[in-house]
Amino acid sequence: MNSKISQFIANNQISTPCLILDVDQVERNYNQLHQAIPYGGIYYAVKANPALPILKRLVALNSFFDAASWEEIQLCLDAGAKPSQISFGNTVKKISSIQSAYKIGVEMYVFDSIEEMQKIAKHAPGSKVYCRLIVDNLGADWPLSGKFGTTVDHAVELLIQAKNLGLDPYGVSFHVGSQQTDPKAYTAAIEKAASCFTTLAAQGIELRMINLGGGFPIRYREDVPEIEEFTTAIQQSLLHHFGNNIPRIILEPGRFMVGNAGIVSTEVVLSSKRGKTNGPRWVYLDIGRFGGLAETEGEAIRYQIETSYDGSTTGPVVLAGPSCDGVDVIYQKSNYQLPLELTAGDRISLLSTGAYVSTYCSTRFNGFAPLEEYYI
Ligand SMILES: *Cc1c(COP(=O)(O)O)cnc(C)c1O
Repeated sequence: MNSKISQFIANNQISTPCLILDVDQVERNYNQLHQAIPYGGIYYAVKANPALPILKRLVALNSFFDAASWEEIQLCLDAGAKPSQISFGNTVKKISSIQSAYKIGVEMYVFDSIEEMQKIAKHAPGSKVYCRLIVDNLGADWPLSGKFGTTVDHAVELLIQAKNLGLDPYGVSFHVGSQQTDPKAYTAAIEKAASCFTTLAAQGIELRMINLGGGFPIRYREDVPEIEEFTTAIQQSLLHHFGNNIPRIILEPGRFMVGNAGIVSTEVVLSSKRGKTNGPRWVYLDIGRFGGLAETEGEAIRYQIETSYDGSTTGPVVLAGPSCDGVDVIYQKSNYQLPLELTAGDRISLLSTGAYVSTYCSTRFNGFAPLEEYYI
């Protein structure tokens, strides 16, 4: 575990469940990605963790921001971001949110349908717009495909219409799916983006930007390729398609920026056999699906667990949350093993839980208080 966080736990009497996040690690993640892809900007996907200390640190680093709602835009402004540093990156935006964003000077908006584009043309006239492409999400542990994006042919049509409606057709975007473990997902998507550039150039429209979205994976229980494998594949693909005429490249990392910076500290509420002598133990924690671990749905994201007994004999467990809901089972099929000594009252750590946990926490389901958060 991150030593700054383990010291913080050792020196403070903090109750569980809580998220502790090292903001310096966010800075290191930002710098790593920023140096690897120098063609444009890093737009932090605010939804991954919108905590003010994170946003402030990123503002200090001159980061940009990908906001999905007027509320997220306001959080960025509160942290000191300028409207020109914010992209309104949700293909589904309320009219009132578009109006509010336009009024304060947000310049960039996404769409993947004629209907959304018409909303932008009417309520944010003249803005820079980009069209989201649908791309393969194979290789992603948390796919986004199906809900967003459109085909290359349709995107080309829409961007022509955008110009006719007085908008500025700026570029295209995609998202290869979150926790994407295959670098080729990016190169295949860049190829689609490049074909939009070529087709539109022939019609007199010069796109200037590709938004590569997020998706960059972090290490949970299983190894993933190093980030350099992704950035190298992206660089090579950009050179291949654009030579020395590479457009502005936007990255929207969420998970990669904050995931490995945080840990959840949780307490074992009960470790029980429930009468089944041959079955696995059930270990119930004071955090579960409704306390913020939404990404354990389908056991898609498998967190690494640290206990104070690590190294001693382990046995199979089913891990579950504390609520009275039957779906509040965290891991049943993923072969988790925990030390046999583990018992009620013990504290354990769920590693790399800085992304997509704090905001997924429900509001007092079964009376449980929301996750405490510490940014250090
Ligand atoms: C969620 C999201 C991201 C961040 O994705 P990660 O996989 O966390 O990097 C980026 N862009 C858009 C449009 C998103 O919806």
